[in-house]
Amino acid sequence: TSPPRTTHTAAQVELAGVTRTFGAVVALAGVDLTIPAGSLTVIVGPSGCGKSTILRTIAGLDSPDGGVLRIGADDVTSRSPGERDVTMVFQDYALFPHMTVEGNISFGLRLQARHDRRSGPKREQIRTRVGDVAALLGLEDLLGRRPAQLSGGQRQRVALARAIVRRPSLLLLDEPLSALDPQLRASARAEIIRLHRELGTTLVLVTHDQQEALSTATHLVVMERGVVAQSGSPDELYRRPASEFVAAFLGSPPMNLHDRGGLRIGWRPTDGQLESRSADALPIEGVVESCEYTGDGQHVRCTGPDGGFMLVQREGERWLVPGDSVRVAVPTERLHRFGPDGTRLS
Ligand code: ATP
Repeated sequence: TSPPRTTHTAAQVELAGVTRTFGAVVALAGVDLTIPAGSLTVIVGPSGCGKSTILRTIAGLDSPDGGVLRIGADDVTSRSPGERDVTMVFQDYALFPHMTVEGNISFGLRLQARHDRRSGPKREQIRTRVGDVAALLGLEDLLGRRPAQLSGGQRQRVALARAIVRRPSLLLLDEPLSALDPQLRASARAEIIRLHRELGTTLVLVTHDQQEALSTATHLVVMERGVVAQSGSPDELYRRPASEFVAAFLGSPPMNLHDRGGLRIGWRPTDGQLESRSADALPIEGVVESCEYTGDGQHVRCTGPDGGFMLVQREGERWLVPGDSVRVAVPTERLHRFGPDGTRLS
């Protein structure tokens, strides 16, 4: 039987010209960003680009030097964290070690009940809500344990349960999967996607892992040194990166990039065709430098005409060996062109 739906409302978040400096460090250099209501928005970017600062600003744990933050229709720029209907889950989960799982999950609700005896949640309501959330996250059998008796993945689920039991209209997760091993990460990622779908709340997640970002997000935000480099659907950013930075950051193996007569051109390793003679394609001559067997094909690393390397992903067919001369044809519609300042041309 599926657990009962926990009702959440979903809030839109809007940042306009948000700036934040720490001494000489510009963490946010004028962030303009809209996080759609009900989206699973993933903020991704290299270390130090300002991801956590954005999340802390939305939560109210950090105050911007300038700019406006709206949650729903409200300007919350100068509101305290408690006045924002936002819950944030941290990297280290920060569970109370002396409390059981049930105690950890119900903590916020019990506090609310004590502060507001009349309209706060009643004991029976707290039980039901904790039960519902435990069922949603598969924690029913662990309610009596203490954090020290849980695995990393279980601790993460308790932290999530504690956050969603209060039904925030906005849930913020800072690198929620970083403490998990690769196998657990994959299932935890699926769990977050499912949870988001079932809750219907706006969920914002920060990661530095571009693969994770591409596979999890309904709305993707790539940050570069304190500003938003591009935001949109993962598909849009992958297929039509707005700049060389976004092009190089998203995708694994990364996009091939070459200088070509004053321009930079880029193409994905899966878009280069070896031994193709199509007329509507850019031919690039190369020499095979190394080949890596991947099970269903080869990753072929070649030296390109400009002396740089290019990588082509291919399936089956003729086996290539180092030293082979090859011609890579890249269909013109799959070519990305960037100007001298790195922005996309056409
Ligand atoms: P990471 O992926 O490494 O966690 P991030 O993208 O989340 O990085 P932030 O933590 O937002 O980056 O930091 C942005 C910049 O601001 C960094 O250069 C960081 O050193 C700096 N910074 C953040 N918080 C503080 C602080 N409290 N004091 C001083 N500098 C800070």
